[in-house]
Amino acid sequence: MTRLTKITDTAIAGTTAPSLTRAQTTRLRTRLERDLESELAHTRDISRQMASFLESRRDTATDDEHDPEGPTLAFERAQAHAILRQTQLHSIEISTALQRLTDSTFGTCVRCKSAIGFARLEARPSTPYCIRCAS
Ligand SMILES: [Zn+2]
Repeated sequence: MTRLTKITDTAIAGTTAPSLTRAQTTRLRTRLERDLESELAHTRDISRQMASFLESRRDTATDDEHDPEGPTLAFERAQAHAILRQTQLHSIEISTALQRLTDSTFGTCVRCKSAIGFARLEARPSTPYCIRCAS
């Protein structure tokens, strides 16, 4: 959380994105910070859930192939792992967007360097691509 606070302070001191007004930038920054908080909380929840899967497995010493609960547990674990991976990737995407706010490259497509429209950013604040490059 210390790291997040540090990024936030720098972002506030930073300039607005070239294609966006200060109000729009502030609004998107707030969204990104809130999204990051929620993704990090989600990551913690899933990690806890996965730890409890491991624990329940150890406690009962089950074997996926013979225990009727086994396949269900294995499936749930695989699913939790996939969600965890997705959540972590999204957290990285959001952190990178916050970094772009700090160095004033936010709102500019990382591929073709054209401006990303506010409507698109509002729909998906962490996107690094304009609509053309994303499709
Ligand atoms: Zn582009």
